[in-house]
Amino acid sequence: MPETRTSYRKVAVLGAGRSGLAAARLARSLGYGQIQIFDGGSHAGDVSGEFPLTLSATEEDGRAYGADLVILSPGIKSDIAWTQAFVSHGAELIGETEFACRHFNGVIIGITGTNGKTTTTGLVAHILTRAGLNARPCGNYGIPLSQVAFEGGAPYAALEVSSFQMETIRDFRPDVAVWLNFAPDHMDRYRTVEEYFRAKLRIFENMDGSQAAVVREGENLPGVRPRLLTFHSQNERGLLSYRAGWICEDGRRLIDLNGTPLASAHNAENAMAAALACRELGVDASLIADAVRSFVPPAHRCEIAAEMDGVLWLNDSKSTNLHSMAAALRAQTRPVILIAGGKDKGLDYAPILPLLREKAKACIVFGQIARQLFEAVSPVLPTRQVVTVEEAVMAAAAWASSGDVVLFSPGTSSFDQFTGYVQRGECFRASVKRYLKSSTIHTSHGQ
Ligand code: ADP
Repeated sequence: MPETRTSYRKVAVLGAGRSGLAAARLARSLGYGQIQIFDGGSHAGDVSGEFPLTLSATEEDGRAYGADLVILSPGIKSDIAWTQAFVSHGAELIGETEFACRHFNGVIIGITGTNGKTTTTGLVAHILTRAGLNARPCGNYGIPLSQVAFEGGAPYAALEVSSFQMETIRDFRPDVAVWLNFAPDHMDRYRTVEEYFRAKLRIFENMDGSQAAVVREGENLPGVRPRLLTFHSQNERGLLSYRAGWICEDGRRLIDLNGTPLASAHNAENAMAAALACRELGVDASLIADAVRSFVPPAHRCEIAAEMDGVLWLNDSKSTNLHSMAAALRAQTRPVILIAGGKDKGLDYAPILPLLREKAKACIVFGQIARQLFEAVSPVLPTRQVVTVEEAVMAAAAWASSGDVVLFSPGTSSFDQFTGYVQRGECFRASVKRYLKSSTIHTSHGQ
């Protein structure tokens, strides 16, 4: 393995978003020579005047620049011709996460999985902070690790790491790693599920037997060296399990999740993983229990949008794959009217049908994938196809009766109609609000 150099003469940062800007600032603070940001698109993104910026950058621009270090933002693939043009003179190519971790001197808790990363990252940071430790939630969470390293002062980084970020690591080595789960996703980025899995598995690549990895019991992780600390909500084979709303260890009740927003099997797994990671760092068990109970999960993840006339409206806009949709369905104890749809990501909907049949009484499909979803779901459930989220809410309202839950868990990404899951979730909330307002007016006029 080549030595990591301590200084570079010419740095190209690829991608003009948050990660790119944070990496450029960190590189400047390290005294690196010329730093320039390049983006293949025509929008300045988060960079405004602070660094030389080439928009609509071409492969020719890349070759002409002659960088000796290229730092890649996670949204850009490393093996495409455009990226490769920047390293054609033999420059070192690393991702923003790799770059940042070389210059972050604190403790890194690296958190990955197909679902639950953000919730667990927030929870780890919350527990550590409640324990009086200075921790920042970061990485894919929204604050690049480069920014945390640049700002300094936080000795603990709860680092959410996506498979995209791990494609371009080399020496990255978290102090504790968390592997929440794995299911097919991102088939618009990877050629095969195996390729996606291999990218994620790299979180353990530089770890050794002196370290701990928190892993869902039963996950098949070939060649993993760290000591495993396991958990599972559906069996008792791991160190931690979940029974009657309690996180248990050897049959002993440890953390009471009843009455908290984490009282569902999937969130209990996030809580177990966070608890094990923090325990490994020496945090006291009773302090962890108190902190878990006071945690408020991030928005758009099975959050209550409204409850009226006995109908519960749940916003799970962050559900961008079938694994999260399945978790949301399993968490429901009332008959479900499911609203699903969005961008076509190449996912196979057949495996979800038995669960849908068990949990849902109707399904409304919308967005680019609507036709395909309609064809998959309509043989097993009453299904309606619409175009927009607003129409989906109206259709769900027509089907819902007291005791039902309308679950907005799209099961795929939002980029066919929205800028992201936040905008999609806000659109759902606003549509529900509008519908409920109009139905109240309607009812009171009719009285
Ligand atoms: P990520 O950052 O991995 O996307 P989030 O915490 O943002 O994870 O949750 C994404 C979606 O997955 C939400 O719909 C949420 O309800 C669901 N989810 C959260 N934790 C889990 C889990 N452990 N297993 C399955 N689904 C989960």
